[in-house]
Amino acid sequence: MPYIIDGKAISKQIKDELRDEVEKLTEAGINACLAVIQVGNDPASTVYVNNKKKACEYVGMSFLHISFDENVKEEKVIKRIKELNKDKYINGIIVQLPLPFGFHEDKIINVIDTSKDVDGFKNGSIFIPPVALGIMELFDYYKINLEGKNVLVIGRSKRVGIPIMMECLKRNASVSICHSKTNNLSEYTRASDIIISCVGKKDLITKSMIKPGTIIIDVGITYENNRIYGDVKNNVYDKCSYITPVPGGVGPMTVIMLVKNTFDAYKKQNGIIDMFDIWW
Ligand code: NAP
Repeated sequence: MPYIIDGKAISKQIKDELRDEVEKLTEAGINACLAVIQVGNDPASTVYVNNKKKACEYVGMSFLHISFDENVKEEKVIKRIKELNKDKYINGIIVQLPLPFGFHEDKIINVIDTSKDVDGFKNGSIFIPPVALGIMELFDYYKINLEGKNVLVIGRSKRVGIPIMMECLKRNASVSICHSKTNNLSEYTRASDIIISCVGKKDLITKSMIKPGTIIIDVGITYENNRIYGDVKNNVYDKCSYITPVPGGVGPMTVIMLVKNTFDAYKKQNGIIDMFDIWW
């Protein structure tokens, strides 16, 4: 039987460590704060925003939820981000994605001050996107060494697949990347020691597509009949060595790494750490 990677438990451990650290620093009287901008009321986005709020509050950080109607003018959202950029009590700013149809995500995100871009979504950001950081934490926790391994990342979006690929490369893995135009995905999956699936398509990975002992990180999320599914079919479990469940795998790690990025931003803005410590 495989190890079911317990993202919930590991993220709780990181949350508790962060809470202790936050407590020590806030005794000095300054409080870290994450601002989240949400446009429209997509139910899945509301769940994600609430999870971020709960995690911030757990560690003792403040959380500012700024909600706009889906008919808001893009310029109004941009104006609010500019105000948050100047606000010294706000350490991290994120825009909950996806934005409703018609909004220019890149244009809006690029307004966020570089020192507060804790999702790492700006062009040339100094922060690593939380989803990639969270997966690397899981590898560290289970002492999974990527050096020399054949890692397959499925999905090439600039906010998920590509940052994950970059982190795997930093760890000296040989990385392949597949996408919707890949011919014969199974050829790649069968040749891989580690598969990181970032698609959002239920049952994309089936048992016959992997070799025994594969490590699987399931990033994808699909909502169906009020349930949440990953990209990997259930019967794959007994063929792999480690696997992240959905829910309870990568998701909670992504949330806590966002909180960690915000706390790092806070420390940098208050002269407690050098930005260089964040980069590497
Ligand atoms: P996205 O922008 O829609 O990208 C999806 C990627 O999957 C694209 O690169 C697409 O290829 C590829 N793809 C689509 N169908 C495919 C197929 N049949 N075979 C192989 N590749 C295929 O989505 P995203 O923002 O990257 O997010 C990906 C998934 O991760 C979503 O389900 C999202 O909800 C989830 N997610 C989870 C977390 C978490 O914490 N668990 C965090 C972030 C995102 P093309 O480039 O050719 O279109």
